[in-house]
Amino acid sequence: MRRTVRGATGTALACVTSLLITGVAAAAPAPGSAGIGDPYYPNAGNGGYDVSHYDIRLTYQPATDVLAGTTTITATTTQELSRFDLDFGLKVTSVLVNNVPATFSANAAGDGELIVTPAKSLAKGQSITVVVAYSDRPSTVQIDGENGWTKLPDGALGVNEPQSAAWWYPSNDHPTDKATFDVSVEVPDGVAALSNGTLLRTSKTRAGWTRWSWRSTKPQATYLTSLEVGKFEVNQQVSPDGKPFVTAYSANLGDTYGAAKASIERTPEILDFLSSQFGPYPFEAEGGVATTGIGFALENQTRPVYGSRIFAFGSNASVVAHENAHQWFGDNVSVGRWSDIWLNEGFATYAQYLWSDHVGEGTPAELAQYVYDLHPADDPFWQVLPGDPSPAKQFDGAVYDRGAAAIQALRTLVGDDAFFTILRTWQQTRGYSTGRISDFTALAEKISGKPVYSLLQTWLYTAGKPAVGPNGATARLAAAKEPKSYKEIRTALDFISGKLK
Ligand SMILES: [Zn+2]
Repeated sequence: MRRTVRGATGTALACVTSLLITGVAAAAPAPGSAGIGDPYYPNAGNGGYDVSHYDIRLTYQPATDVLAGTTTITATTTQELSRFDLDFGLKVTSVLVNNVPATFSANAAGDGELIVTPAKSLAKGQSITVVVAYSDRPSTVQIDGENGWTKLPDGALGVNEPQSAAWWYPSNDHPTDKATFDVSVEVPDGVAALSNGTLLRTSKTRAGWTRWSWRSTKPQATYLTSLEVGKFEVNQQVSPDGKPFVTAYSANLGDTYGAAKASIERTPEILDFLSSQFGPYPFEAEGGVATTGIGFALENQTRPVYGSRIFAFGSNASVVAHENAHQWFGDNVSVGRWSDIWLNEGFATYAQYLWSDHVGEGTPAELAQYVYDLHPADDPFWQVLPGDPSPAKQFDGAVYDRGAAAIQALRTLVGDDAFFTILRTWQQTRGYSTGRISDFTALAEKISGKPVYSLLQTWLYTAGKPAVGPNGATARLAAAKEPKSYKEIRTALDFISGKLK
């Protein structure tokens, strides 16, 4: 998961401030802010509107890397707006706001901000329709000196975390503004264009071209919306619970093809197991994509993507369990701020422990204890704070391992019944939305009646090795032997986090 760290800008609030000072009751139109207010990524997302739907309609030519088309955004304003930003890096040819041409400035500062000034200011609470037309070669576009588009010999990938959208569609690029999506991409015959949700149809458009049309009907974060173009074997099946189950395997997987397929085809079985732990699967479709070109895996909603080398040593159901656990922890309940990444990675790693137990390769207690015993007190591992790791360490191994051990410590404190009630209640009450670690802590204290805040202060927010291990003070297993699944999980995590390419 490469990161695109965006620099701080934002001068947009001066006008509002002066009005407050002079005591004018009605706010005058003001620019929407350039960021949504996330300290890790100040330019991520935008202020002043809330998106309900994206309709992305594109043509992509792998031979030239030219991506062209339109994205239509329906949204509601949340303030009176003189102008607003979208997060986007490509060259824009026109912008319409409510069918009237708007003026715009596209990525002029190289910071991925598309600044749109409508012909007339927009009232608060107004429905708006924004049509952005564009054409560019995404592999040539830099935002804050980085490129989040992966060009492949036979296609390309719009897949990354926390940002990838800006290289293929304009958006309000932060998990706090989820929306439904239609993604329709025309590509040369013989090439697939894959995305999230249900494949509505493939249709012949003109000689030599086919259009692939996908729909996501549940709220979806922008970074979890993906595009994979290339030569793929595409399998359309129906899962035992009656949902579309679409898997795709790159033609370039080579020797990893068999192991990738043996892992990803087990997705419905793994989702069934995870449902027994976390509550009902929240989405309308299932699947997975195995591809070359990336050294990580990512939990794209309904259809995770897996870099082929994850399967270099054979099948790896553990990584499929990790990415599909994110369908609950990450996709259904997304981070409120990027500093809350433990809510994603700690729980997805803990789900690997649960899966390990399920298949008889080591229990969560053994795995968490092994992590605890493996790292001595002076190991820099214990200096990373899973609850606020900093942008540079957002995907550090300790966020995953120390983060999962913290969850075992929580389970030890509250007991199994309360533990699983907390996880399921979190999903039920925060589903299709977002949550913060402070919200989770409050819920866990309320359900368990135990001092969860104090425990998580130690495990998530305090540098140094916790004095009490994840299974309690009496459960030290100083000579614990490595659980059977530990190396597999650790290797999978190194792949997932992009450490092994
Ligand atoms: Zn993960």
